[in-house]
Amino acid sequence: MTINNSPLPNFEPGAPLSGDGIPLCVPEIRGNEWRYIKDCLDTNWVSSVGKYVTHFEEKLAAYVGTQHAIATSNGTAALHIALLVAGVEPDDEVLVSALTFIAPANAVRYASAWPVFIDAEPRYWQMDTQKVADFLENDCRWTSGALFNKQTGRRVKAIIPVHILGHPVDIDPILSVARKYNLAVIEDATESLGASYKGRNVGALGDMACFSFNGNKIITTGGGGMLVTDRDDFAAKARYLTTQAKDDPLEYIHHQVGYNYRLTNIQAAMGVAQLELLDEYIAIKSRIANTYTQAFDGIPGIHLMEQAEWANSIFWLNTILVDAAQYGLDSRQLMHKLARNNIQSRPLWQPLHRSPAYMDTAFSMPCPVADLLNRAALSLPSSVGLSAQDQQRVIELLRVQAN
Ligand SMILES: *Cc1c(COP(=O)(O)O)cnc(C)c1O
Repeated sequence: MTINNSPLPNFEPGAPLSGDGIPLCVPEIRGNEWRYIKDCLDTNWVSSVGKYVTHFEEKLAAYVGTQHAIATSNGTAALHIALLVAGVEPDDEVLVSALTFIAPANAVRYASAWPVFIDAEPRYWQMDTQKVADFLENDCRWTSGALFNKQTGRRVKAIIPVHILGHPVDIDPILSVARKYNLAVIEDATESLGASYKGRNVGALGDMACFSFNGNKIITTGGGGMLVTDRDDFAAKARYLTTQAKDDPLEYIHHQVGYNYRLTNIQAAMGVAQLELLDEYIAIKSRIANTYTQAFDGIPGIHLMEQAEWANSIFWLNTILVDAAQYGLDSRQLMHKLARNNIQSRPLWQPLHRSPAYMDTAFSMPCPVADLLNRAALSLPSSVGLSAQDQQRVIELLRVQAN
C-alpha cells in the first residue's frame, strides 16, 4: 500500500485520500470480527465448510425472514445461481433495471440469457413498475404458455428489480404482473439489506433474493454474497449448483456442470460479526441521512434522494441531484470541487443501455429518466464511520455555491 504524504490536495476524484480525506463509503470493523476469524485459524476451519458458514446462513435467513439462505462467494455469483434456479435458459430474456451497478446484467449473460433494460421512475429512482407492466402487456405476446418479446422473438423468463442505494423498489405491481405471466422475480437486494417495503423485509418479497457483502456494502465479509428463498426446492438446487453439483461426494459423480461459488468459513466468521452490528449501522446511516436532509433543505438546486412513505430505506448511499442552472455548478464540477478538498463523491452508474458492454447487443426500452438521473446525480460520503465534523465539512462545501 502506498501512503500519500503529499501536502497538495488530491485533484483527481478517484485518487487515494490522504490524512484528512473523507471516503465515500468504507467498511466499519469494530465488533467480534477478530475474535471469530481467530477462532477459524485456531481450529483449522478456514475453508468452505465450517460452523460460521452455517451460522451466517441461519442468522441472515432469520434476519430477512426467509426459510433458507445459501452463502456464496459474492453477490454476482448469487445472482447467476438464482437465474439458473429460476429456469432461465440460453437466449431467454430477463428484465433488469437500467440504472444500477452492472452486476445483475452480467449475471444474466453468464446464464447465456439477455437483459432487457427498464427505466427508473423519477421519484425514488428505482425500476419503473409502470414501464415493466407496459413492456410485458404491450411489447410481448403470450403464446403456448410462455411470454415472448415481439421484437426479438425471445422468451421472457424473469425480472430482476434492483433495490438501489438502500431504498426498495415499489415491488407489489411487479409481483402481480409476474404472477400473471409466470415470470420469476429475483430481487437484487445487494444494496439494501435491512430495508423494508410496506412493512415486509426486502429479500423476502420475490421468489429469490441476493445480497452482497462486498467492501462498500452496509456489512462486509471482504467479498461474499447470499441467496435467500422460501422454497425448499430452490434452496436445494442453489446449494447443489454452488458446490460443483456434487451427486456423490465420495466417488466424485456429477450429473451437471456446477460452480465453485462457496463462501469460506473465515469470510463467514466476519459476516457473523458484522451482522451482529447491522441494526446499529442502519440507525447510524439513518442519522447521517437526516443530517444531510436538513442541511440541503435550504440549498437551491440540491435535491437529496427521497424516501417513499411505504419504504424504510437503509440509506446505503446519500445521493443528490444537482440542478446546474439553479446551483451554479453541475454534478461533475461539484465532484471535482469536493475532490480538491479531499472528499470523495461519485456519480451514479452509467445507465446500462448506454454501456458499451451492452448497447449493441441487449434489448432496451427507452430510458430517459435513467439518463437524466445519471447526469445530475452525485453520491456523498456515507460511511457508518463518518464523523459529525466530517459530515459538516461536506455540508459546508456544498453550501458555498462556487468553485
Ligand atoms: C454490489 C452489487 C452487486 C454484487 O456485488 P458483488 O461485488 O458481486 O458482491 C450486485 N448488484 C448491485 C446493484 C450491487 O450494487
